[in-house]
Amino acid sequence: MVNNKNSFIPYGHQTIDDDDINSVISILKSDYLTTGPAVERFEKSIANYVDTKYAVTFSNGTAALHGACYAAGIQKGDEVITSPMTFVASSNCVLYMGATPIFVDIDQKTYNIDPKEIWKKITSKTKAIIPVDYTGQPCDLDEINEMATKHNLIVIEDAAHALGARHKGKKIGSISDMTMFSFHPVKHITTGEGGIITTNNKEYYEKLLEFRSHGVTRDRSKLKEDHGPWYYEMQFLGYNYRMSDIQAALGASQLSKSDDFLKKRKAIVDKYNAAFANIREINTPFQKQTNNSSWHLYVLRFNIAELVASRKQIFEELRGQNIGVNVHYIPVYYQPFYQGLGFKKGICPNTEKLYEEIITLPLFPSMTETEVNYVIECVKEIVKKHSNRN
Ligand SMILES: *Cc1c(COP(=O)(O)O)cnc(C)c1O
Repeated sequence: MVNNKNSFIPYGHQTIDDDDINSVISILKSDYLTTGPAVERFEKSIANYVDTKYAVTFSNGTAALHGACYAAGIQKGDEVITSPMTFVASSNCVLYMGATPIFVDIDQKTYNIDPKEIWKKITSKTKAIIPVDYTGQPCDLDEINEMATKHNLIVIEDAAHALGARHKGKKIGSISDMTMFSFHPVKHITTGEGGIITTNNKEYYEKLLEFRSHGVTRDRSKLKEDHGPWYYEMQFLGYNYRMSDIQAALGASQLSKSDDFLKKRKAIVDKYNAAFANIREINTPFQKQTNNSSWHLYVLRFNIAELVASRKQIFEELRGQNIGVNVHYIPVYYQPFYQGLGFKKGICPNTEKLYEEIITLPLFPSMTETEVNYVIECVKEIVKKHSNRN
């Protein structure tokens, strides 16, 4: 096996060039480090990129989800349906509102929330659905939106993995009532920390703007009193969840390279898929014809019955080769905090089974051909070594 022990290959990594660095420097030399024009410019470019009317930046994707839950009017006593095969933020935002997350199991092929299971969990208390485009593959958004319309539910799409993805030709970000993207360094484009909500709904847009800035409004038509030009009103309890101009400038520069990043991710995925296609101990990720994934993560699923080693052993051997494999995700309700709230193991069997059988391989635009080939060789060799056919 090639010895690559000196350079660790992470599962995800930002791609920053001199343009990015220079756009940050230009903000540092300007008058506004925050609440300046760079934020609005970045919001307009994202709205344009995903074919939507409005976009509101936040200090991170989790804050953006919190804002979307507020704008949707989610309250104590409400139920919100989401997938357990996700990062904790997708359901923590529901808890922030005092509402109850309802975990619905995933489809065995796409690993996205299963619309057939959503039907069964809708009650008179259901207020919203938070579908998660796992690994960058869009959910069955038509079916989900149809259900939402029928039951008067709001759809907040967690598209942290899906910037640049398409569903039936439409850009992710333009389909649901509100869509969240994250700009954490492992995601498609980065602002260090950052997030955004895209929407076509003006009412949500205005609420999101106020929510991320203490619940304060300066809109003369909305004020209860008016003491003069300095006057503003805090009309509800909001937060300081603003993105700085430094971050926004980095984001705008990154966004101009987004399509190139997507192509590079896709090229690596094609290589992985070709290399692993005929190995019976592993399954490559299934994709629906109607979707163009943005390929945030490459998740291999192991046929544990065909192997004499456990997933854990394979994981440790890959880490031993300096490959930064990971597992996405631990089912959210396995977390001690959620267990403490009364969520029981066993509620989503497809999710729980998937969790036992997956490993995420490194995937990011600046990954070199040597690194990709090295990962492929290591995976093949380790799988062969542990095959039950030996
Ligand atoms: C990254 C991520 C988030 C949260 O984004 P942050 O910007 O890190 O707060 C939410 N949901 C999913 C699925 C994510 O991957």
